Amino acid sequence: MKHEFPRAALSLLEETLRKPVVDIGRCTLCEGCLAVCPQVFELNPVMGYIEVRELDHYPEDAVQEAINICPAKCLAWLEE
Ligand code: SF4
Repeated sequence: MKHEFPRAALSLLEETLRKPVVDIGRCTLCEGCLAVCPQVFELNPVMGYIEVRELDHYPEDAVQEAINICPAKCLAWLEE
């Protein structure tokens, strides 16, 4: 008998594995992502660029809002 992985569980797993990435070469340091999603994005105080915090889970809605408002379009989901 073939076992199907429940769709809801699969969706949650996919969401859990998704991580945002920053193309720092295009980032203008407008700090918009810091304003809408500070739990995920932070300004590296030494290097002076935006980086993604290491988290077990990235909040879908907040990250997506940051992606949507980024004027340089340099935020995206990295699918693992
Ligand atoms: S919103 Fe985009 S351009 Fe602005 S600081 Fe964040 S990554 Fe950089």
